[in-house]
Amino acid sequence: MLPIEKFSVGVGDRFAHQARAQLRACMLAGENGVTVVPVWNKSNREHNIVGSEPESVRAAADAAVAELGWKHSYYVDADHINLGTVDRFLSASDFYTLDVADSIGKPASPGDVDAFVARHRELSGTLQIAGIEQPLVITPDFMRAIACKYLFAVQEAGQIYRHVAGRKGADRFVTEVSMDETDVPQTPPELLIILAAIADEQIPIQTIAPKFTGRFNKGVDYAGDVAKFETEFSADLAVIACAVTRYDLPRNLKLSVHSGSDKFSIYGPMRRTLRKFDAGVHLKTAGTTWLEELIGLAEAGGEGLDLAKYVYAKAYADREALCAPYASVIDIDAARLPSPETVRGWTAPQYTSALRHDRTNPGFSPDVRQLLHVGYKVAAKLGDQYLDMLDRCEESISRNVTENLFERHIRPMFLD
Ligand SMILES: [Zn+2]
Repeated sequence: MLPIEKFSVGVGDRFAHQARAQLRACMLAGENGVTVVPVWNKSNREHNIVGSEPESVRAAADAAVAELGWKHSYYVDADHINLGTVDRFLSASDFYTLDVADSIGKPASPGDVDAFVARHRELSGTLQIAGIEQPLVITPDFMRAIACKYLFAVQEAGQIYRHVAGRKGADRFVTEVSMDETDVPQTPPELLIILAAIADEQIPIQTIAPKFTGRFNKGVDYAGDVAKFETEFSADLAVIACAVTRYDLPRNLKLSVHSGSDKFSIYGPMRRTLRKFDAGVHLKTAGTTWLEELIGLAEAGGEGLDLAKYVYAKAYADREALCAPYASVIDIDAARLPSPETVRGWTAPQYTSALRHDRTNPGFSPDVRQLLHVGYKVAAKLGDQYLDMLDRCEESISRNVTENLFERHIRPMFLD
């Protein structure tokens, strides 16, 4: 395996224009005493919507690193891939997020389930795990039920892993297993059983993305019980530390938080808990860089502002189609969306106030923010017209991209 650093931040860059501005935020982390390495992630779905290839992510990352003289590692993530979509990412990526969420609940062979339960007698009973106050109680029935639910998915992760390893070489990439894009969260005892199964598959997993309790909507804050999240996150870290020793998993195995970006209210609890366990983390911030592009366009005024308003008008008109692929991770109240006519009359500060994620600003609109978050297809359709404007408004855009990533994400999560 290619070992990844303790702290990493997943950054999305839909149009491959902000890698430098994003990397600058990581450099600021370094100047403040903490190494946070970037992982540029772009899923197959995003590539299809934008009409890009994984090589463009690699090229942008390499160029940014060369230009800024970044001395640490960096990665290009084949984000949420499966056996059907991974091949496109084989040359460009060195981080693979094996997404097996769709296979959760599909039955493994009864023989495999029996063998797993027989092999892991140590898992049933009352387990005292360092770092968790209440012992985990895993009955044989529970263990069998969880094996039935997850074993097939883990076997599939093994297949994808071996597929990539066979083509790239096992020591040339980082492996993540993701199960976050599903309806029901995985509890800490489930995570322990899943990790035992992953060890059986001999996947050198370095990051795991479970689904956590609460809602992780795109581009807006956490919605859920923060105290409950903190308890669960802490128990997950305890379970990982236990599984690493027990099943000889990579020592740097860490949680990957597919945050959907901007989960500000849980950054503090996560930071506290990570320090308690001296644990690493991969914080994935998703596609909000694209929103900073719109903010930067609006700030630039003139044609930049006009283009930002045009994107809103088109996204508003196409909102149903744009929202459909993201239905489970957005909550937009259409009645609260301003009409395109209203937005056409906005000044630059009105536009940026509505969009920038500052909940203390009375003009902030989570509805506008979420709609534009999924509206990147509108910009993709504009092609060079959009990309040319990005170049023309570079100063205001890159300033916003760097400040957003550093001040709103890296600082509260890794430095404060
Ligand atoms: Zn995810």
